[in-house]
Amino acid sequence: MSEESYYSVKMRAARGGAHISGAEKIVPASAVPKVASVLVERALTHAKGVPDFINLKVESQEGSLSRLKALKVTTHATRTAAEGRAVAAELLRGAGIGRADEILARFAESHSMRGAMLLDVDTLECLEPDPERGVRATYMDDVSSLQKGTAGGKNHYAEAIVLATKVQNAPGVVGEICVSDDPDYVTGYVATRELGYRRITVIKEKGDPNGGRIFLYRGPRDGVAETIRFLEQTPVLVTDVPVLAAVREEHRFDQLADALAAREKAGLSRYCRTLVAPTGPTAIVDGRELLVLASNDYLDLARDPRVMAASATAARTWGAGSGGSRLTTGTQPPHVRLESSLARFKGTEAALVYGTGYMANVGAITALVGKGDAILSDELNHASIIDGCRLSGADVLVYRHGDLDDLDRKLSLCREHRRRLVVSDGVFSMDGDMLDLPRFLEITRRHDAFSMVDEAHATGVLGGTGRGLSEHFGCGHPDILMGTLSKALGSEGGFICGSQLLIDYLRNVSRPFIFSTSPGAPALEAATAALEVLEAEPERVARLRENVALFVAELAKHGVETRSESAIVPILVGDEKAALAASAALETQGILVPAIRYPTVARGAARLRVALMSAHEPDQLCRAAAAIASCLKTTQGKR
Ligand SMILES: *Cc1c(COP(=O)(O)O)cnc(C)c1O
Repeated sequence: MSEESYYSVKMRAARGGAHISGAEKIVPASAVPKVASVLVERALTHAKGVPDFINLKVESQEGSLSRLKALKVTTHATRTAAEGRAVAAELLRGAGIGRADEILARFAESHSMRGAMLLDVDTLECLEPDPERGVRATYMDDVSSLQKGTAGGKNHYAEAIVLATKVQNAPGVVGEICVSDDPDYVTGYVATRELGYRRITVIKEKGDPNGGRIFLYRGPRDGVAETIRFLEQTPVLVTDVPVLAAVREEHRFDQLADALAAREKAGLSRYCRTLVAPTGPTAIVDGRELLVLASNDYLDLARDPRVMAASATAARTWGAGSGGSRLTTGTQPPHVRLESSLARFKGTEAALVYGTGYMANVGAITALVGKGDAILSDELNHASIIDGCRLSGADVLVYRHGDLDDLDRKLSLCREHRRRLVVSDGVFSMDGDMLDLPRFLEITRRHDAFSMVDEAHATGVLGGTGRGLSEHFGCGHPDILMGTLSKALGSEGGFICGSQLLIDYLRNVSRPFIFSTSPGAPALEAATAALEVLEAEPERVARLRENVALFVAELAKHGVETRSESAIVPILVGDEKAALAASAALETQGILVPAIRYPTVARGAARLRVALMSAHEPDQLCRAAAAIASCLKTTQGKR
């Protein structure tokens, strides 16, 4: 700003001696008339009533104006007054203010003061000369309110930051704590020069009229007069005050923090655990070796030397990423090679690779059906199928899990729809049970519906050579056979196998295929190599099956009944927290078994979900079964 002289403009309005409103601004001379009129108008239209007295004071501040940068604002999302006060006390203690709890207790007194209490932070003596009036921080403004032309507007939040900034720059002041005296406003703050302005969303109970400000002073008694002079007389312009939009943004994040806290309370929080090793039957977590009963790398192919070498060679030959979507520049020989390998392996005419299995499900479903069509979906289908159904815009009829009579009945209700698509997991990911594919195909054909089966957990697991459900049952294929490269094939990516016509159609209309960068050659060549290993070593599939049989039998020996038709062995617990406790107890014994909870499974159907690998040793499985049985007895005994 220029050399123009500045004026402070102060307004106070009262009725019958009682305060109604007040405001102050520091503005250049040219803005004084406008600001004065805006402040008077504000006084006259205040919600607390019409004043009988308005004092407008305009004073020159020539030469003495100082500029301060606003304190940095941070929000602490608290839920209760007790929590808010605990946060405030903790912050003060962190700032070297030892008697924080006693200071907080002083609000009972400061409440009756018109200004703030000035407290010696160590002796807790009151230093303000007039205990009824207290100390007032005044002659201050937000620079940007001038620049934005909002000099007359009221912004409590910006005013609080301006005040806190001035106070923290006063000589001898080491902190401030403020609680609103508005019974409906439960937010407060703690400020120090180092911590900045720490907003605490809930610091008092709603309806509590007690509030006030306490300025915390540390220094010699003969410095107090200088401190008060600065607070009450030195004009200050504050720069870089966060704008209201940023404040609103913080409130948006408060809601997210609340949602997270609620999840935490219900035992539904989720964290990522870092496994420091290639995926395999064991892993290093926090420096400890754990037996992993949770990997989808069922055939131990992710770390197979041939698979890793293929991926490394691909990176050297074709680069790390593909550089484009499949229809532009993202098709390289590895993409073509894998698609023909997949079609051959599954015994279909053609195949199409997607970035992930999730995308393959969403991409196929949304391409095949839309408004005016019907989808029939098993109630326990994978989330990626559910999302595809929602996104498609088709009518979705959910049939009871595995209940093909229910499917048959519901299909009869959909004769008027343009197209019908029936979609099911081949192996259900949370229960490990299997779809009755022959009957599924019979019903869908009879109703002239497209059949779609997700073989994420069937590929490499079912059938003598791991080709999936069709091999297991010795029957034909569904119209749309979905699978993933990320489970038994040890890599990442998803695919659809089917007729050439189906694949040509998807290539033309499937949005996740068209509008996303194609997976890179290293992942794809790994999958192609994994298919070769699987075809050369079908005994991996047999070993996996033997491991499942052994593990289920061992559990039964210890009194835990379960069954599995795949590599997934569900152990039902029920209560979310009990499942978490069992999982945590197993981890202390060196066994990693995740607790699966809502929303992945229904509320109250929490479970331990064991996933086995061909590479697990029998003695590992015996030890794990015994440990699981004993943990379940302990946690269930407690309930
Ligand atoms: C894992 C899984 C998917 C998703 O496959 P990604 O390749 O991990 O995206 C789809 N369906 C089922 C049943 C799954 O278990």
